Amino acid sequence: MQETLQNNTKKEGTGALDLKMFINGEWVNSTSGEKRDVLNPATGEVIAKAAEGTQEDVDAAVEAAKYAFYEGGWWGTPAVERARILFKIADKIEEKAEELAALETLDNGKPLREARFDIADSAACFRYYAGLATKPTGQTFEVPDGQQAMVVREPIGVCGQIVPWNFPLMMSAWKLAPALAAGNSVVFKPSEITPVTAVKLFEIMDEVGLPKGVANLVLGAGPVVGQAIAEHEEIDKVAFTGGTATGRKIMEASLGNLKKVTLELGGKSPNIVFADSDFETAVDYALYGIFCNQGQVCSAGSRLLLEESIYDQFIASLTAKAKKIKVGSGSDENSQMGPIVSEAHMNKILSYIQIGKEEGAKLIVGGNRIKEEGMDKGYFVEPTIFVDTTPDMRIVQEEIFGPVLVVQKFKDEAEALRLANDTKYGLAGAVFTNDISKAYRVIKKVRAGITWINSYHPTYNEAPWGGFKQSGNGRELGTFGYEAYTELKQINNNLDIQPTGWFDEE
Ligand code: NAD
Repeated sequence: MQETLQNNTKKEGTGALDLKMFINGEWVNSTSGEKRDVLNPATGEVIAKAAEGTQEDVDAAVEAAKYAFYEGGWWGTPAVERARILFKIADKIEEKAEELAALETLDNGKPLREARFDIADSAACFRYYAGLATKPTGQTFEVPDGQQAMVVREPIGVCGQIVPWNFPLMMSAWKLAPALAAGNSVVFKPSEITPVTAVKLFEIMDEVGLPKGVANLVLGAGPVVGQAIAEHEEIDKVAFTGGTATGRKIMEASLGNLKKVTLELGGKSPNIVFADSDFETAVDYALYGIFCNQGQVCSAGSRLLLEESIYDQFIASLTAKAKKIKVGSGSDENSQMGPIVSEAHMNKILSYIQIGKEEGAKLIVGGNRIKEEGMDKGYFVEPTIFVDTTPDMRIVQEEIFGPVLVVQKFKDEAEALRLANDTKYGLAGAVFTNDISKAYRVIKKVRAGITWINSYHPTYNEAPWGGFKQSGNGRELGTFGYEAYTELKQINNNLDIQPTGWFDEE
C-alpha cells in the first residue's frame, strides 16, 4: 500500500504526479500504455500525467467489480461493516483535508476557500451514507390468502459512475458513498480534465481496506472509457453527472442491456428578485449564485430576474460589487475567483460572450479574458454581466457554464414565472421576497428540482438533488439517492402451508 501511495505521488522527470488506475485492488497503468497531461488552469503547467484508459481497462474493471459483488462477498457484507469502512473514509478525507484542498485547487482552479468547503462536504457525504447504511429499510404488507408480504431493498449490482470536472472530489463522494453504502460494487470514471483528487480518494479507500474489486477507478476520455461504461452489458446501472448532450448519449448507449440510468445534467436557473426583498441580501446572493466556482456550477443562478421598480438600483449595486471581485490563482488565499478549468472551456465561454454581443444584449461588466501579468498563461475570464436581454437569445437559453450573468426584467409575478420557466432546463431556482406567501406561491410554480427562498446555493447531503425537464433523471443525495442504488424485492411468505389443489382431478 505504502508503495502504491508513492507510485501515485512520485514525481516523474517533469515534476508531475504519475496517476495510475485502481483495478481489482491493484494500481495499474492503462493497457494502451498512454498517458494524458493534466494541467493547472492557473498557469497552463502540467501537474500530472494520467493513465489513459481503454475499453479493455473498463472490461477488466467490470470483471473485478462483478467478482467482488457476487463471489467476493461484498453483497453479503453486513451493513454495519460497510458503514465502518465508509466512516473510516470520511475520517481520512478530513485528516488529509488541506492536502486534498490544495490538489483540488491546483487541478480545477477553484479558490482554496471553495476547495476546503468541497473537501469537508465530501467527508460529510461519506459519513451521512455510513450512517444510513444501517438504518431500517423495507416494509411489510397485510395481504390475503394466509400470506405475509414484505419488501426488502437489495443492491443493484455493478454500478458505472461518470462525473464532471467542476467539483471533482465532491461529485466522486456523491456517487461512491451511496453506492457502496447500499452494497453495490463500482466502476468509476472521473473527468479526464480533473482526475487528481479521485485518485487520492481511491488511495484512501485502498488504505482503509475496502475489499479488492469493490471500487475500481478507470481514467480516460469520455467517448472511450465513459462510452464503454454506459454500453457495458455487465453493468447494471449507470449514474452520470455532466452535460445534457452527453446525458442523452449515455441514455442511448445504455439501451443494450436496459441498465438503470440516473442523470444529473445542466441548467439555466432563474434567480427571481422582487422589490420587497432584503436588498443587500439579494445582491449578495445574486453574485454568489453566478460567480462562485467561476460560474461552473450546474445549479448556478445564471439568469437574474429583477422586478422593474428596483432594476436600476439593483444593477448599480451589482455592477459595483462584481467589478471588485478579486480574480487570481485559486492557490492565492486572497483570490475570490479562480481560472476557468481549461483553455477549451474558456474559449467556449468567450464565444458565448461574443454571441451575446452579436445578439444585441448590452455588456455592462467584464466580457474579456484576463491577460495581465501573472494570469496571462492561465485561463482567466472576467466576471461578466449582460442586461437588455430577450428570452429568445442564445445567452438566455443555453448553459454557458461560466461567470456570465444574464439579467431579465419583469413587471409582476405572472411575468416573473413565465420568464423563469421559459427554458428546457429545470435544475434550480430561487426567489427573494419578504412576503412569505408570495415566496411559497412563486417557488411552488418554478419548475425545478432544487429551489431556495431568500438564499442561493446551500446544498445538503440530507436532501434530494436533481432536476426537472432536461436537467436530469432521478435524484442523488438523501434517502432518495440511497434508494436509487437499490432494487426492491417482494418476498411473499406462506403462513399457511398446504396444497392449493388447483390441478387436482375432480
Ligand atoms: P461532460 O458531459 O462533457 O462530461 C462529464 C463526464 O462525462 C466526464 O467524465 C466525461 O469524460 C464524460 N463523457 C463525455 N462524453 C461521454 C460519452 N460520450 N459517454 C460517456 N461519458 C462521456 O460535462 P463536463 O463538461 O465535464 O461538466 C459540465 C456539465 O456538467 C454541465 O452541463 C453541468 O451543468 C453539468 N453538471 C451537472 C450537475 C448536476 O448535479 N446536475 C453537477 C455538476 C455538473
